[in-house]
Amino acid sequence: MIYNSPRGTTDYYGKDIKYIEFILNTAREMFKIYNYEEIVTPHFEYTEVFARAVGENSEIVQKEMFTFQDKKGRSLTLRPEGTASVVRAVIEHKLFGENLPLKLFYAGSMFRYERPQKGRMREFSQIGVEAIGSDSPAMDAEIIWLLNSLFKNLGFKNLKLHINSIGCPQCRKEYMNVLEKYLKPYEKDLCADCLNRIGKNTLRVFDCKVETCRKILKNAPKISGSLCEKCKKYLQDIFDILKVLDIEYFHNENLVRGFDYYTGTIFEIISSDIESAQNALGGGGRYDDLMEEFGGPKISSTGFAIGIERTMLLMKDLGIILPNFKNKTSKVYLINMSSRFNEYLFGILKFLRHNKIICDTNFNMKNLGKEIKWAQTEGYSHVIIIGENEVSNNLLTIKDLNNFTQMQLSWLNEKAKVLDLLK
Ligand code: AMP
Repeated sequence: MIYNSPRGTTDYYGKDIKYIEFILNTAREMFKIYNYEEIVTPHFEYTEVFARAVGENSEIVQKEMFTFQDKKGRSLTLRPEGTASVVRAVIEHKLFGENLPLKLFYAGSMFRYERPQKGRMREFSQIGVEAIGSDSPAMDAEIIWLLNSLFKNLGFKNLKLHINSIGCPQCRKEYMNVLEKYLKPYEKDLCADCLNRIGKNTLRVFDCKVETCRKILKNAPKISGSLCEKCKKYLQDIFDILKVLDIEYFHNENLVRGFDYYTGTIFEIISSDIESAQNALGGGGRYDDLMEEFGGPKISSTGFAIGIERTMLLMKDLGIILPNFKNKTSKVYLINMSSRFNEYLFGILKFLRHNKIICDTNFNMKNLGKEIKWAQTEGYSHVIIIGENEVSNNLLTIKDLNNFTQMQLSWLNEKAKVLDLLK
């Protein structure tokens, strides 16, 4: 019996791991430079945490959650996103001190029961930040700056930053009325999903991919027309800071996002090199009411999340080469000609590994020529041959696979030289 991984999940190995490692390392490094600290939360929460935060009427809660009961009958859900858990944890452990904003980041698997396709999986990983405790537009600008710089550092060239404001509760309410009035005459032409959204989650109609709905929405009134002066100024303040930072952005008045907790600013970063429904690499926004809704203090917050797999897929599609692939690093393969020489072999392995030199050995005996060829195809830069002669005379035979020169050094007296050669 051969088993496959469950639908919507993937195994990663080989080069993919190098991409994932590069994305995670770059992100972690940048988050630390911007002074964000890591928080780790569980992979599952009580279902209510997500139902409340993401919204009962959202697509995610309605259709996409992996919900199950534990042995005591409690309803639990595998996390579909990171913000709700972080907010729950911040309140539970009272992490909001006097020194706000609290700047946190997280990384890990998320789970959504979606229809799988390229760049859309049921288990995927996100890395994200949350800046908790500032209602300043400068905070929004900082995290948008971080998001943009992160993708630049990953090697993306043509990025488009879509930014919008969905207003404060007052102007959003006013806009809903305007939008619902506009949609009323088109009700018979809207898809079933959009009809269902009206009155419950009306803004989400802008997310619809159905052509007739898109046509209807093209001429719909924009939310910017309903924004109050305060919300308008807030958005303009963000734009002004982004200009100082030389960050290009696009005020996309049709941008909406899938979580109910958003208030005011929302944004998404898109690779404009690729025309695909899955070209959104990451996104986020403000959530000024969630802390209070979860029983915490009234603290304004903002954050974003990026998809690791989608970022990797796009990097590969765009031919973005990882820096490590270009740089030559020493990688040493020790060819042991007989298990009789294991003691000698392990002494050398121990020395090289202690000195952080990437190395490996043949655990199965084959012939020397084949081993050297194999080492070459695997990208090793050097081989060290350990045979009768080497062991009897305390020697190391080192072959440079780039130019096929070979030299012998004394294992007893020339360790520094060995390191010089291999580093
Ligand atoms: P969201 O949490 O929906 O705002 O999504 C943020 C980012 O996570 C997206 O831009 C994608 O890169 C990634 N993402 C969201 N859903 C999926 C999924 N089902 N599969 C893979 N990546 C996803």
